[in-house]
Amino acid sequence: MSAVEAATYKNYIGGQWVPARSGQVMESLNPATGAVLGLVPRSGPEDVDAAVQAAARAYPGWRKVPAPRRAEILFRVAELLVRRKEDLARLMTQEMGKVLAETRGDVQEAIDMGYFIAGEGRRLHGYTAPSEMPHKAAYCVRSPLGVVGVITPWNFPMAIPSWKILPALVCGNTVVFKPASYTPLLGLKFVEIFEEAGLPAGVLNIVTGPGGAAGNALVEHPLVRVISFTGSTETGLGLAEKCGRLGKRISLEMGGKNAAIVLPDADLQLAEDALIWSAFGTTGQRCTACSRIIVHQDARKDLTERLVERARRLRLGDGLLPATEVGPVVSDAQLARVHEYVQIGQGEGARLLVGGKRVTDGDLARGNFYAPTIFDEVRPGMRIEQEEIFGPVTDLIAAGSLEEAVKIVNGTPYGLSASIFTRDVNAAMEAIADIETGIVYVNHGTIGAEVHLPFGGTKQTGNGHREGGTQVLDVFSEWKAVYIDYSGRLQRAQIDRD
Ligand code: NDP
Repeated sequence: MSAVEAATYKNYIGGQWVPARSGQVMESLNPATGAVLGLVPRSGPEDVDAAVQAAARAYPGWRKVPAPRRAEILFRVAELLVRRKEDLARLMTQEMGKVLAETRGDVQEAIDMGYFIAGEGRRLHGYTAPSEMPHKAAYCVRSPLGVVGVITPWNFPMAIPSWKILPALVCGNTVVFKPASYTPLLGLKFVEIFEEAGLPAGVLNIVTGPGGAAGNALVEHPLVRVISFTGSTETGLGLAEKCGRLGKRISLEMGGKNAAIVLPDADLQLAEDALIWSAFGTTGQRCTACSRIIVHQDARKDLTERLVERARRLRLGDGLLPATEVGPVVSDAQLARVHEYVQIGQGEGARLLVGGKRVTDGDLARGNFYAPTIFDEVRPGMRIEQEEIFGPVTDLIAAGSLEEAVKIVNGTPYGLSASIFTRDVNAAMEAIADIETGIVYVNHGTIGAEVHLPFGGTKQTGNGHREGGTQVLDVFSEWKAVYIDYSGRLQRAQIDRD
């Protein structure tokens, strides 16, 4: 389809579908075929301002809607997502490339989050505490903050926005959402569902457009109280600096350099299946992707042979085709970046076992396909061992002991996800205790989080906040302590003491 024939979409601001004020548009492309899927507003600060003003106007009404009633609307969102799951998954595969089984999983994660958060509408618990003084009650409650800005990446175009938008809304905030420029259509489709579920006008708004213009204007807007961001460490830390100066709360979910340890007693068939999935699922473009496999010397030869054989056989292609196991990389630029890292790895002395090149056979020439790549003889400290590549590339690193392996896991600036394969419960427990990541798996790869547990990482992966679980509510609410004195006289805490 040419750009001329592609459908044109609009922003959703204050309950109206409107074009960018400048009238400018940008393309959404299929990374498997290069086809133009649609044209979306190329919004700027003036559109962001209109969206934030709409969210600010809607806030006083929305925060007064009782949380269980807010949650009923969000429950309906989950129900509508169930009905639309297949259509949304197909569009997602077309817009960002991952295979259908995975895009169905992405929508399912938003469904799970919808049901989970709808339940939280009846829980949003505070607590009561005994007062130091007689005839005095003390308790605390969660309060919303106001307008929340949501900035998301392209690799989970529905799951990640759902982790942010649903809890922000159940807490009583209003939202302006800026999706990634590679996946604006999924963002728009997601917002359409909230409209259909009956969310009042202005409570959720979406503005598509470049991060540097629309995203930045959202962060800097004086009426935005909280930013929830997932993306690269570089962008995230820059936004944190800005929010620090502006006195805003920001929740960051950034990169990872996730590692799996394989001990000699591990079930190697299980390790093989799980590591291939963790390294090459979503074409390696997950913040939790396994990009380091730390294997004990005694299992090294066997595991290496298994992984190389499997990686070589993975079928690349359009994610809509049933036989495809690995889809395209999201863009030309991302593919160039992946290849640059492969060259860096070779320059550093790592041994390329499989992959390491763009694939252009037949129809694959139209898209951004990169061969699943495994490096051996990777040493701690190499750039390919330290930096997030975000593509189908994983490293094999040899270790002589569990202690050495854990030290390697912990030896990067990131701390998102890690795993260990072993049948030895003592070794597993030692690893769980000593690994410094926000998520640890035993006998599983580094991917597969569930929405009702906290999601996030240590060090440069985040800034201490968590998505998922009830912990996410702390990002989108503020605690209010309440004291009710019914003694009828002045009682002074800390002062009226002997
Ligand atoms: P970015 O961090 O650049 O983008 C993430 C989001 O932030 C997008 O919506 C983007 O908008 C927006 N953004 C970019 N610049 C600004 C800004 N100055 N102010 C406000 N918002 C901004 O990641 P990319 O998508 O460019 O990916 C680059 C790298 O980031 C990847 O190679 C990978 O290493 C890492 N990454 C990590 C993810 C994770 O889950 N940990 C997810 C995605 C990427 P726009 O799309 O318009 O640029």
